[in-house]
Amino acid sequence: MRFTPALTITATSALVASLLVTAAPAPADAPADRPTGKTPTAVGTGGAVSTVDPEASAAALKVLKKGGNAADAAVAAAATLGVTEPYSAGLGGGGYFVFYDAETGKVSTIDGRETAPKKMPNDAFIDPATGKPYNFTPELVTSGVSVGTPGTPATWERALKKFGTLSMADALKPAIKVATRGFKVDETFREQTLDNEERFRAFPATKKLFLPKGDAPEVGSIFTNPELAATYADIAERGTKAFYRGDLAKLMVDVVRKPRTSKGTDLPVPKGYLSRSDLKDYQVLGQAPTKVSYRGYDVYGMAPSSSGGSTVGEALNILERTDFTGKTPEQVLHTYLEAGALAFADRAKYVGDPRYVDVPLPTLLSDKYAAERACAIDPAKAAVKPVAAGDAAAYDGLCPAPPASGTTDTDTENISTTNLTVADKWGNVVEYTLTIEQTGGSGMVVPGHGFLLNNELTDFSTVYDAADPNRIQPGKRPRSSMSPTIVLKDGNPFLALGSPGGSTIITTVLQMLVNRIDLDMSVEQAIAAPRSSPRNTASVSSEPEFITAYGAALTALGHTLVPAGDAFTSAAQIGAATAIEFGPGGQLTAVSEPVRRGGGSARVVDPK
Ligand code: GLU
Repeated sequence: MRFTPALTITATSALVASLLVTAAPAPADAPADRPTGKTPTAVGTGGAVSTVDPEASAAALKVLKKGGNAADAAVAAAATLGVTEPYSAGLGGGGYFVFYDAETGKVSTIDGRETAPKKMPNDAFIDPATGKPYNFTPELVTSGVSVGTPGTPATWERALKKFGTLSMADALKPAIKVATRGFKVDETFREQTLDNEERFRAFPATKKLFLPKGDAPEVGSIFTNPELAATYADIAERGTKAFYRGDLAKLMVDVVRKPRTSKGTDLPVPKGYLSRSDLKDYQVLGQAPTKVSYRGYDVYGMAPSSSGGSTVGEALNILERTDFTGKTPEQVLHTYLEAGALAFADRAKYVGDPRYVDVPLPTLLSDKYAAERACAIDPAKAAVKPVAAGDAAAYDGLCPAPPASGTTDTDTENISTTNLTVADKWGNVVEYTLTIEQTGGSGMVVPGHGFLLNNELTDFSTVYDAADPNRIQPGKRPRSSMSPTIVLKDGNPFLALGSPGGSTIITTVLQMLVNRIDLDMSVEQAIAAPRSSPRNTASVSSEPEFITAYGAALTALGHTLVPAGDAFTSAAQIGAATAIEFGPGGQLTAVSEPVRRGGGSARVVDPK
């Protein structure tokens, strides 16, 4: 514990407790084989899982109970999420998989990011008909031009082969079952369908699947997806060549290059560049995780092409320069807001796909660089935002002259995606974030196959600038914010966590770490606590409860907090995290959101 003003901590805990009790209760009528109950916390031993969805968590739990390991269970859960959360993740998308191997004590990663087609030109986001940039919405969001080569099937294949014990066929079994017998539609599914109604109507295949009677499926109705079950069954039988080659590959290419719109739709749907050779040649990347030490913990994250590990890591290093002994939560949060802004300034200037741009990763993760960046933090006053990036080419750890103000990076990342955390009885851990980018991806279902294609290439900067590390380049991976994170203490797992939420993913993970490590909250409190998302903008998107609790003190320090749901964060709630904490004697505390996005599902193999 680093600071102890009892009163303020009690206030924080009371606030968090009030959020915890508003968790959605488990419906009493859930049939045993169609789980619907939301369980935000589960404590026990023998393995654990946390996802946003009861079906996906049940799938993982079953695999764990049958002797599968964390990687097997993670793939089973992810494939099930492809059925029950089809607007957030699935075969047509990508993601990042982080694995802690209990036997070796090593953390490894799989970069399964969607990739720009080899023939995608730098000016792909310029409308050839007008010579002007496409609008972000609707043109880029609902388009072939934003579809990247999917990485998810290859991620599952690599994860099972490298870390798992099951065959693809066995890992996909639970998902095939859920797709065949159907799952119970909840409010979130109906709402997300309705939010996408107009563009889903623009594609006959999407309309047929997700607006089956001309409307979004009713809450409580059973939603089946036999075509996805068949696609999974094909991959189960033939491996990922059933996806990356042959008829399905040909069909995906056709859909991207000549989007199949409904007759009479007035939605403009720009054509894309995906080719069969992009699919055939797609490779996941195995790469070293990022690593920083933070107050005695080792924090492992995802290296670029995601900006998750570098930005969370840099911000932690900056935070570590401040001793929080005796500080109030408001002072800790002030430092958090400042560190987030500084790290985001560097993210914008330096981070992109390292196969294409020179990312100074060791510098961004170094204590010396952080010491220099931390000079910009005045404990009594918020810096004017946006702050400028640091000079990664010349730094000495000493305080430089106060920098000029910076520029705000245009943030077009959406807030969909899903995240899961799994641990097994041997001590292996998986943190996996996967996405199809926008809620509903490109809006284009692959006809007869039951899944949506991503629109991940909207994560490239939409305006081409040769100095921008995230500019469009053929074959490149767009910069991500996904931040699957595993924290070790003395070489053993302490905490694994991650979240969806576009660029707010980074701040959600960072804030949960600060909550747990610096504000001494329990993991249950750390996930429920109200969030604020400092991303180097003049005003900081914050949940209303955060503003109520800390707004006065932080405003007095010069921060401008605005309710999330503004131009920078289109939802009123920030993130939908999952986490597992590892306690003494093999005790596992799995947590999911009690409230956000309708709540999640945390389960353990042997409940306490
Ligand atoms: N495309 C985002 C990323 O890679 C994730 C999308 C989201 O979370 O909404 O960071």
